[in-house]
Amino acid sequence: MAAIGFIGLGNMGGPMARNLVKAGHKLKVFDLAAGAVSALVEAGAEKAESACDAARDVEFVVTMLPAGEHVRAVYMGEDGLISSARKGTVFIDSSTIDIPSARETIAAAEQAGMTMIDAPVSGGVGGAEAGTLTFMVGGTEEAFAKAKPILEKMGKNIFHAGAAGNGQVAKVCNNMILGITMIGVSEAFVLGEKLGLDAQTLFDISSTASGQCWSMTSYCPAPGPVPASPANRNYQPGFSAAMMLKDLRLAQDASKTARTPIPLGAQAAQLYALMEAAGEEGLDFSGIIKLIRGEI
Ligand code: NAD
Repeated sequence: MAAIGFIGLGNMGGPMARNLVKAGHKLKVFDLAAGAVSALVEAGAEKAESACDAARDVEFVVTMLPAGEHVRAVYMGEDGLISSARKGTVFIDSSTIDIPSARETIAAAEQAGMTMIDAPVSGGVGGAEAGTLTFMVGGTEEAFAKAKPILEKMGKNIFHAGAAGNGQVAKVCNNMILGITMIGVSEAFVLGEKLGLDAQTLFDISSTASGQCWSMTSYCPAPGPVPASPANRNYQPGFSAAMMLKDLRLAQDASKTARTPIPLGAQAAQLYALMEAAGEEGLDFSGIIKLIRGEI
């Protein structure tokens, strides 16, 4: 069993770290929030005094932090992991961050003699708790092979997406598809309703016709057809509109760097930004149907 440092024990990191403890690994954990650390200590982890303490004398370090600036600070700041962990440590960053931050951090880690992958996830808090996350990994073949046994204790589908940063590329592209399709499905269900077609009938037809997609069949934004979807619990997340907006803004940044137009991605970001401007970004992202109905 491996010695693992785990930094960032929030909604996602907490249950991911717990699954590593359950699998028998020896965890040293750190978060700025003391409560998050004590919850993991109760689950069997050891408390670290700082991020670099968590990374001392371990084989792996997993980070699950909010955004690129936090990842840069934790790895490359003064007393950062790169200057304090021992050579050969395998760093796994599972945060969803901008692609340049991922690539620069991995390059700095490799230059210092460490191994590092970007490994953002899909599957939300439910997937983190159940250990069924999808990991999208960027990094060398060798780094991927070293990290895979650890990722397998937190996820079900582990994909190697290519070189450093490609995990973030996959994540941003996937979530842009999701954000756009959710708006398309929402528009169709509101239009259908206004024209006298009830949601269940449209669902029965479209879910077996060419309009079929995950946003409809697994996460329908209209209440009724998919009992487990947030539409049936007043759009409580799930995956919040704020999180979707964060990912669509990352897609915007990436499109500028790649000089690639993403007109629907841009429009989708603007629509979720309207939810934010109305103070409704805490709703599930499928709550975008309320904006289209004129309820927000
Ligand atoms: P969160 O805000 O619940 O957790 C982040 C944790 O990081 C917090 O506990 C915070 O105290 C800690 N932290 C921040 N700076 C720190 C530092 N310098 N040192 C130590 N700890 C620090 O966020 P989350 O929902 O767990 O999301 C984490 C990442 O996963 C984000 O990048 C997010 O985009 C991504 N993600 C989230 C979901 C989801 O459904 N929540 C799904 C997929 C991906």
